[in-house]
Amino acid sequence: MITTSEIKKGWCGPCHVRCGMLVHFENGRAVKVQGDPDNRINRGALCRRGQLILEHLYNVSRLNYPLRRSGLRGEGKFQQLTWDQAMDEIAEKLSSLRDRYGAETLALSRGTHRTYGWAMKRFLNLFGSPNMTGPNTICMCPSHTVEWSTYGSFARQDIGNARCIVIWGYQPSQSYVVTDWRDLLAAKSRGAKIIVVDPRRTKEAEMADIWLQVRPGTDVAIMLGWLKIIISENLYDTSFVEKWTIGFDQLKKHLDGYSLSELSRLSWIPEDKLCASARMYAETKPSTITWGLGIDLQGVNAMQAVRARCILRAITGNLDIAGGEILGAFGGDPRLISNVQLELNDAISPEQKKKQLGAGEYGLFGFPGWDMIREASDKPGAWFTPPQSEMTCCAHQRHVLHAITTGRPYPVKAFITQSNNTLVQAADTKAVYRALSSENLELTVAMDYYQTPTGLFADYLLPAACTLERSDFPASPKAMEPLYQRRDDYQFWRELGIRLGQAEYWPWKTIEEVCDYRLAPIGITFSQMLRGGGPPPSRNHKKFEIQGFGTPSGKVEIYSSIFANLGLEPLPVYREPVESPEGNPELAQDYPLILIATGKFMPFYHSELRQISSAIQEQPDPIADIHPQTARNLGISSNDWVWIETLRGKIKQRARLTDEVHPAMLRAQHGWWFPSKPAADPSLHGLWESTSNILCPVTADYCNPEVGGWPHTALLCKTYKAG
Ligand code: SF4
Repeated sequence: MITTSEIKKGWCGPCHVRCGMLVHFENGRAVKVQGDPDNRINRGALCRRGQLILEHLYNVSRLNYPLRRSGLRGEGKFQQLTWDQAMDEIAEKLSSLRDRYGAETLALSRGTHRTYGWAMKRFLNLFGSPNMTGPNTICMCPSHTVEWSTYGSFARQDIGNARCIVIWGYQPSQSYVVTDWRDLLAAKSRGAKIIVVDPRRTKEAEMADIWLQVRPGTDVAIMLGWLKIIISENLYDTSFVEKWTIGFDQLKKHLDGYSLSELSRLSWIPEDKLCASARMYAETKPSTITWGLGIDLQGVNAMQAVRARCILRAITGNLDIAGGEILGAFGGDPRLISNVQLELNDAISPEQKKKQLGAGEYGLFGFPGWDMIREASDKPGAWFTPPQSEMTCCAHQRHVLHAITTGRPYPVKAFITQSNNTLVQAADTKAVYRALSSENLELTVAMDYYQTPTGLFADYLLPAACTLERSDFPASPKAMEPLYQRRDDYQFWRELGIRLGQAEYWPWKTIEEVCDYRLAPIGITFSQMLRGGGPPPSRNHKKFEIQGFGTPSGKVEIYSSIFANLGLEPLPVYREPVESPEGNPELAQDYPLILIATGKFMPFYHSELRQISSAIQEQPDPIADIHPQTARNLGISSNDWVWIETLRGKIKQRARLTDEVHPAMLRAQHGWWFPSKPAADPSLHGLWESTSNILCPVTADYCNPEVGGWPHTALLCKTYKAG
């Protein structure tokens, strides 16, 4: 038999990096992948997750055909139907629900921004509902909102050119191995200074010049300390501050309210270390502070820490310079059609915007704040563009689930998830379960790669194409046509939109046609872009010197006018975490350990890839890190199953004894469920056994007032041997 072989370009999707791949086919079947050496992002490298992508592509558990529920919700019984049948029935139901309850009765829940979020938002805006929700509130998007409020764009660390790198609440050795981790190792060898702020002694901490073992949830205290030291010792960039910021004098006065000794006590960082690290950061040029998910997940202090991080970058003169933080990384060439333009955010009426669930409580993250940010940053031809509303203009998840369960303030009768396993993603798992199993819901749809605990409650379960089977803008080609009846989500939203009267807004039949449309202003097609190796790196610096910053004042707003207008603290403040030995000593008697419930680890990504057998062989059980001394005191040995309990409930993970964690802390892994365990409710693939979100609260007192982000860290727990 003659074997036909070919190599095609494709791209990797199990995380956000979008590494380029070369996919080797034999007789039409993909047999091997390797990193694309011509790709500017990964330069030929692939991480362990990426190496496993063919096990994802051909996995026997993948959803391959549209399914309609044939049993009870949660029972896991489905029957196959055609795409046309599924789309007709979903559209008919949505139309009838809109007639009876108004468009706001539909809520969409999206995953982690690796599908076509703009298409989802375009559909929703045209449908007339303001209720897009998902993990946005705790995952990067809040940083976007705050950074746009402060300097009109999102800033990306330039580790490759920095002489001092501050790794803050971030572990690139576990999350971004082929980019930031590679750059960090190179930076270390060329003699760059490294400061790590992390409660755990990570690999990064071990290679740092200074490691600050912060008390979880108090990072803003360190940042306020750094600001005090940098200003009092005149280590800031006076000319940048004078020319490009507003509110510096107010900040100086505001900082008088904090003493270094108090900030040191709050953060558990000795004063001399606070001073040494602040000086190292400010005196080494250029310096960069990374974005880190560890900050976004802190609950009450999260957004104040992001504000303080923005101000540190600005007053040290590191914004938009090589080796500092590059602005507009997501904006690209201003002539291209942006995601936010594609979202059609003016298609939804002002009356419908006002109905956005949770926006009255968390205005910055809803239309009230987003509209202000857009007005300041929407300047034709400018280097900055508004943030995507799909990411930063959301209904709060707690409010959406409450509306489903109670019908208040109005009924949410339809819930569509797009690559979002809400039951594992959201805090307060019991509340999610109550909502998804509620008889109030008249339509639930889940489009995903696999059947998940969330998908078990869907009326329609639809098979999604993975990144090897679909293209994306600006230069990510599909390596092959989708297998079986999998479809890309652009097709889903377009087909649904056309059936609901939106045909004129969906003129492009394929995602490749959309890419052509987006590239047209620079005179090339998608295939020409691919042949040319993708867009040139946008590394132009000091763009603000041309048009200023995309804020109301055109400057970096140290004193944020948007925050002030929304009744939020316009200068960064410290708040004691709701659960802490300092703030709640009585609770700490019963729950003595500080819980970090956010642990990410290779080769998994959030709750994904649990079906990949090679990955499960490498990491079969959920792991909780406990200090050996603490374990000894509690009679826990290495590898024991232990209960981890908070006021909300308890989960089981295996103990790993390690002095990487502080004796007063416990670090639990995040995102666990078990596809091999029985599907039907109450098992739900072992949902209730080890999912760390069961331990996390989402009530208003635990959420920050800016965006409503709930804590996955800075909580109190106890641990004991499972029987
Ligand atoms: S970092 Fe790893 S998982 Fe992420 S896109 Fe690259 S190879 Fe894939």
